[in-house]
Amino acid sequence: MISVTAVVKPVVLAGCLLAVACATNPVTGKREVSFMSEAQEIQIGRELDTETQREMGVYTDRALQEYVEEIGQRLARNSHRPNLPWQFTVVDVPAINAFALPGGYIYITRGILAYLDNEAQLAGVLGHEIGHVTARHAAQAYTRATQAGLAVLLGSIFVPAVRPFGDLAQTGLGVLFLKYGRGDELEADRLGAEYAGKTGWEPAAVPEFLTTLGRVGELSDSRGVPNWLSTHPDPENRVQQIQATVTQVKTANAAQQWSVNRDVYLSRIDGIIFGDNPREGIVRGNAFLHPDLRFALEFPKEWDVTNGKEQVVAKMPGQEAYVLLHIVEQPQGRTIEEIADRSMKQAGFREMSGGRTTINGLDAYLGTYEGSLSQVGRVTMRAAHIQQGRTVYLVAGLAQPQLYPKVEEALAASVRSFRELSRGEADNIQPNRIALYTARAGDTWQSIAERQSGANVKASTLAIMNNHDVADQPRAGEKLKIVVGE
Ligand SMILES: [Zn+2]
Repeated sequence: MISVTAVVKPVVLAGCLLAVACATNPVTGKREVSFMSEAQEIQIGRELDTETQREMGVYTDRALQEYVEEIGQRLARNSHRPNLPWQFTVVDVPAINAFALPGGYIYITRGILAYLDNEAQLAGVLGHEIGHVTARHAAQAYTRATQAGLAVLLGSIFVPAVRPFGDLAQTGLGVLFLKYGRGDELEADRLGAEYAGKTGWEPAAVPEFLTTLGRVGELSDSRGVPNWLSTHPDPENRVQQIQATVTQVKTANAAQQWSVNRDVYLSRIDGIIFGDNPREGIVRGNAFLHPDLRFALEFPKEWDVTNGKEQVVAKMPGQEAYVLLHIVEQPQGRTIEEIADRSMKQAGFREMSGGRTTINGLDAYLGTYEGSLSQVGRVTMRAAHIQQGRTVYLVAGLAQPQLYPKVEEALAASVRSFRELSRGEADNIQPNRIALYTARAGDTWQSIAERQSGANVKASTLAIMNNHDVADQPRAGEKLKIVVGE
């Protein structure tokens, strides 16, 4: 959260939007109405690429970036549009995702890399995204979105869960994803298998990773993972549909040696960050810790915490009660009292009571407010504006008025838990990372999760990450991805 607040603006096509031209679809060969030329497509992609890299951050692992780039370029050369300025980037995002921009800009999150099991699966995912570009899905989706007046649209293989609470329920990415139609997804699956197969990677890796991602979607407690199932054709159906293509690709390239390259892939992702990057703040149990900004906040126990790009939100399970934390942008006023007054008035909230105080030694203004929020309606809010150095934080506990008295104590305790982290505490906060482990006879996902992974990951997550059904157990001698702490 908090490191980036840039809003991605639509790229304006001066005078071009209404100029409809006819063009040939590179994949189908059919003539179709086109709202942008290839040059425009590339220009839009380039501009959105700058925004995307700034918004999400590029993962700082040069060897890994080069590896993904090389695989992507080999696939792109065998695609229907080899001459686009293809670019492949691993973004520093824990969510499981991959997406494409018009013009050939492809992104894959470090989050998805932990769930892919080999190089052929990586090639399948990149091939799928290349397919969205070559078949002009990305360009068409962008055009539709711009015409609908939406702010940002990045086509995505997975889409964040429906937002139950507007901005308060951000799923980690500060951008809005566009969903493609069912037909587009199936076509991209098919093109992904085709490009991977032509380039020499096992095309059966496509149904494999679709199966894995289906399992992720079924794991309902996977906090912060975009729920791609809500907007995609059901994965079993997708897996079945792609099988026919896999057979065709194999028949058409009968002499091909199919490479999977599992060991190479595993060695490349050994050591990558898993889950939150401390640079963006990190959730540990019911605490949120930000070693760079040097603060900590405790949320009520058992609440669901989402570390969004612009704010951190904890939600009471099954109830409309929340605690949220964000930085007050450009605070107005000389004192914390003035800043609180102006920021709450701007948000349309009325102060019922309040006063200046200190919270764990920090200058603060603590008040109780009434107002309303879209999709929740009227709420009562206990909010503190807290000054730490030059930064002002807002920590707010809120609930619908009838629920508020029941949760008031928990909200107040959470708001008052904001504190500075010492240098030593901050230095001790290290991310979890992927490591490799060879299974021994008698190991279970449960035992590996507890012993080798130090309870940093659930048994079911380990199974899915390693290309297994949660009901299977690892085989002795099998090389596995695990998650380790500092
Ligand atoms: Zn897709």
